[in-house]
Amino acid sequence: MSLNRYTQKRNFNSTTEPQAKEEKPKAELVFVVQKHAATHLHYDFRLEIDGVLKSWAIPKGPSMNPEDKRLAIMVEDHPYAYKDFEGIIPEGNYGAGKVLVWDHGTYTLTDETQDINSIGNTFKSNLENEHLGFILNGEKLKGEFALVKLKIKQKNAWLLIKKKDSFATDEDILKKDKSVISNLTLEAL
Ligand code: MN
Repeated sequence: MSLNRYTQKRNFNSTTEPQAKEEKPKAELVFVVQKHAATHLHYDFRLEIDGVLKSWAIPKGPSMNPEDKRLAIMVEDHPYAYKDFEGIIPEGNYGAGKVLVWDHGTYTLTDETQDINSIGNTFKSNLENEHLGFILNGEKLKGEFALVKLKIKQKNAWLLIKKKDSFATDEDILKKDKSVISNLTLEAL
């Protein structure tokens, strides 16, 4: 896991996004979903592992309906501190536009190995095996999900899928459109 690509894409004299820094793991791993009105509106789904946030851009956003399969494009790792980033990336910068923290919380891998010291290896081997299962405990997203790599030419294309459990619903979770930090909508930000 490396933050080099993250740093290469950004000018920290010009954006208020956090600078690259890896963090030691705390007792629980965190996830965050940021709603990002860049050139195209999308949701950035990020899972903490090995001190950074593995990141996927989801054009249609996550769904709590197991019948929806949402395209998720793996993008560059982001620093741990990015989980709290909400604000406006100024014009002329990479990803210019408004960002709000749409959801956050903790997660565990579906695998039985939950030892904080070995979970990084389990996570990496699951990524290599193109199937990552996890359980989210967020304010909006809850229950079991999977990221499954698409076997197509476009590299970095995955699907985010809700698994069937008691949290699954066909209600549109994206209608809950406010920040879990500021309670603002994207428009109000
Ligand atoms: Mn984004």
